[in-house]
This record gives sequence, structure tokens and C-alpha cells, in this order.
Amino acid sequence: MLLHEYQAKEVFKSFDIPTTKGKTATTPEGAGLIASELAKPVVIKAQVHAGGRGKAGGIRLAATPAEAEEAAIAILGMDIKGITVHKVLVTEAVDVAHEYYLSMLLNREHRAITVVASREGGVDIEETAQKHPEAIFRLDCNGVLGMLDCQAKRIAYALSPKPPIAGKIAAIVKKMYAMMKRADCSLIEINPLALTKQDDIVALDAKVILDDNGLERHPQLKEFRDVYEENPEELLARWKGLSFVKLDGDVGCIVNGAGLAMATMDLIKHYGGRPANFLDVGGSSNPRKMVDAFSVLLRDQEIRAILVNIFGGITRCDDVANGLVAALERVPLNVPLVVRLAGTNADEGKRILEARGISAWSDMDDAVHAVIKAASGVGQ
Ligand code: GDP
Ligand code: MN
Repeated sequence: MLLHEYQAKEVFKSFDIPTTKGKTATTPEGAGLIASELAKPVVIKAQVHAGGRGKAGGIRLAATPAEAEEAAIAILGMDIKGITVHKVLVTEAVDVAHEYYLSMLLNREHRAITVVASREGGVDIEETAQKHPEAIFRLDCNGVLGMLDCQAKRIAYALSPKPPIAGKIAAIVKKMYAMMKRADCSLIEINPLALTKQDDIVALDAKVILDDNGLERHPQLKEFRDVYEENPEELLARWKGLSFVKLDGDVGCIVNGAGLAMATMDLIKHYGGRPANFLDVGGSSNPRKMVDAFSVLLRDQEIRAILVNIFGGITRCDDVANGLVAALERVPLNVPLVVRLAGTNADEGKRILEARGISAWSDMDDAVHAVIKAASGVGQ
């Protein structure tokens, strides 16, 4: 789950990572009020799940509350990379002397938390990484040993040779590491990490991704989910407790078992089709699950046909067939449906479906061929 900057900064505060004071507003008047409360020059920042807001015009400096209102008028309603801005963060402006880059990410390949840092942070970091890869410092942190003092210092000195400044950065590195672990983050990126003219170090921007699988442990962080910026199918699936991933194809898949669901997507690809999703309905034959699965898929306007692929082990195909029939009575399908049943009580399951005019395949290859054909509109 990706956090907004203002949310990420709240988490920073709880881990004592220095950042700027501020509040969010959804109206220009609100932005003006916050600016007068802060009684300082402020920065008005678009709160959308997109990077490069500065370059898109979504970040403006304002010296007075009146200017803050003007800036909010310009930013609210603006489109940044296809997302409309509904909220701005009004935060105290900082006199920036230099901009560093500092991030930590969960690196599964290295089985480590990898720190990436650069003396040359700011809005052109991608370009720096491409043109001057030597300007990017990387260090892997072993999950068992944790962030060692000497490592935090190495990172800090890679950013600044001055001991008082490096000391402040090292302290931030340790706090970031604690946040990575304790809040179950998969990414924390601070760009820029600013050196102020007063020689303080402050996180001016914050991008944080939380591991969805850790969210149960953090009820207060769970509340940060912004439903307006989520894919509607994934959102419904999460609320319904289904294991679902949206893809960009046109063949909807409802499968029992994660392994079979993966194999189904592979086979669709193999025969030239494009899976629209991963969806594991699990072992249950409860019609409710099928209704939920169909309603999630039917939200996706791209889907041209749906494949229900069931392998009966402990789950019995006749149970699944009854569930499917019950679900189809409740959800009117407007796309072709292809069913494959194999395993325990498959014949009984097929008879139940046939009584409702649905013929089911036994062979997975046949079913996949049929659904790809149906999705492409051939034979209709
Ligand atoms: P991004 O473009 O979405 O990454 O947004 P950032 O929050 O990183 O802001 C972009 C740029 O705006 C930063 O690199 C800074 O140069 C500038 N900026 C943001 N906040 C402040 C601030 O408080 N003071 C000053 N002087 N510049 C700021
Ligand atoms: Mn930034």
C-alpha cells in the first residue's frame, strides 16, 4: 500500500525522523488558514499517488496566506499523470542549502534491506542514476544483524564529509531502518533529504510503501488506504477477502488454488490469449465466493470472456457446480463463460451444469482454447 506524502510524514514523526510541520486542505480557504496558523512561508503540495509533482506544477512556494490560497486554487483540480488532485499538503517552507537522496527497500533478491543514497538528490535523481551511476551509493543491510552503527556512518559520510551533518544523517538512517522493520515497509524514499541553511537535516518529501501482508499488525496504518486512488476491482476483492491481482488482458479467470491459477494464466498466455487477472477462490464451494468472484470480474470492462477452472481434490466438483449455478442465478453474466471441471465428482458436477445449459470441459487445454476463442469473438 502506497502512502501519501502527508501520511508518510506522520509515520516519520512517530519514528522521530525530522520532517516539516504541516496539515492537509481540500479547499483554497483551508490552505490559507493553515498558512496563517503556521505563520511562515509555506509550500503547497499536491497529494496524489504520483511522482514528479514538482515538474508537473503540483508544488508551489507561497510567502503569505493569500499566496497560499492562490497556489491551492492552481493545484486543486489539477491533473497529474492522469490523477485529479483533491487534497494539498500545506507545510512550512525550508531554506534549502542542498538536496540529498536517501532510500531503503526490501531487496528479496539480496535477502537484505538495501540502502540507496546519493549526494545529488532532488527532482533529477533518475537522470543522475542513469548518467552518473557512480554518484549512487548502495549498501545491503543484513536482516539478522540489523543496521550496524558503522554502516549508518558509512552511508552518512557518503552524503556529507562534515561530522556534525553526517552525524545527523546517520541518526536518521537508523530511525529509517527501525521504521522499515517495525512498520513492515517495503520502501521508504526520502527525496529530497534536505540540508537547511541552518545545517539541519529534514525530510522534505516522503514516499512509503507498506507491505500489504503486514497491515493486519498495524490497524492505524490500515486506515491510510485511499480508496479513490485504488483499482476498483482490487478494492472490491480485498473487501470480499479474495486473493486477486488485476492484469491488463481480457480473459477473466476464476480458479481454485493459487498454483492452478498461475498455471491457468500461463496457459492462456501460451495459447496467445491475455489473462485479465489472477483470482484464487480457494477450496470453498460456497456460492457466496463465486458471486463475489463474478462481481469483481464484472467490474472490469475489459473482460471479454470468463474461465472458471476447478480441480476437485478435497473440494468436490458437484459442490462447486451447485455453487456456480446459484451464483449465476444472482449475477447476470454479460460475457461468455467457459468452465473446466476435473477431479473429485467431476462427472456429477458436469451433469449439474448441463442441466442448466452449461457444458464443462475436462481438459484444461481445451477449456483455455475455448475461452480465448470466446474472448476474441470468434464463432459468435
Ligand atoms: P516530487 O517532485 O513529487 O518529488 O516532490 P518534492 O516534495 O520532492 O518536491 C519537489 C522539489 O520542490 C524539491 O526537490 C525541492 O526542490 C522543492 N521543495 C519542496 N519543498 C520545499 C521547501 O520546503 N523549500 C524549498 N526551498 N524547496 C522545496
Ligand atoms: Mn520528491
